[in-house]
Amino acid sequence: ELSVENLHLKYGDNPVLRGVSMQLGQGEVVSLLGPSGSGKTTLLRAVAGLEKPAAGRISIGETLLFDGATGFEMPAEERNLGLVFQSYALWPHKTVFANVAYPLKLRKVPAADITRQVQVVLDQLGLGHLGNRHPHQLSGGQQQRVAIGRALVYNPPIILLDEPLSNLDAKLREEARVFLRELILRLGLSALLVTHDQHEAMAISDRILLLNNGKIEQQGTPQEMYGSPATLFTAEFMGSNN
Ligand code: ATP
Repeated sequence: ELSVENLHLKYGDNPVLRGVSMQLGQGEVVSLLGPSGSGKTTLLRAVAGLEKPAAGRISIGETLLFDGATGFEMPAEERNLGLVFQSYALWPHKTVFANVAYPLKLRKVPAADITRQVQVVLDQLGLGHLGNRHPHQLSGGQQQRVAIGRALVYNPPIILLDEPLSNLDAKLREEARVFLRELILRLGLSALLVTHDQHEAMAISDRILLLNNGKIEQQGTPQEMYGSPATLFTAEFMGSNN
């Protein structure tokens, strides 16, 4: 349902995306994988409406988000996408409840509806009993769940995650990865996730898009990427012996 066609994006004279096309189907979990500087975060930010491409097209079903041919650009806040970034950027002085409620307040949702919706999300995330705490009173994994809750509270069908697990230590990361995958499936979400870690991409995704210098080197299921790399770059990056 999310479709990106031949996207180009430059920072100044530096071409960072050089003709990227990709799809994210309903209920699918797709990883953007690749080395540092390959354009993963830039692609996610372009989909979110936080960077302006030079050319190409982005759409969700029939809804156009960006069209380089006409210059049309839907404002980021109208795109109805859940965003979870690397640094969770929770409000330190707000409670867990208030952090998750924040996007609904921005959207001027009535207070009674906010209370109900936030409680539903906190329960889904196993945080139902922690609503009155402040972020510093939570573990890293719990903080990450609050950030996910804040992204999901207005029920977006698609969630975009930039290195959502990288702040967690190895043991927590494994646990959080399983939780995240299960949550995405349970809520029927589609997810586009940036990671530079091929093991993480293999474990969490239905499909992997491997970026190399602003282009898609190869895409496929984790098994295809690992077992049948089409190029040396893919073989080396996926760590296979082929
Ligand atoms: P990482 O894994 O290190 O986050 P990435 O694959 O996500 O890497 P991007 O963050 O998309 O890569 O960056 C792609 C390129 O664009 C890099 O060369 C980076 O230096 C450059 N870049 C990113 N953001 C900006 C910016 N705001 N202004 C100028 N150049 C930028």
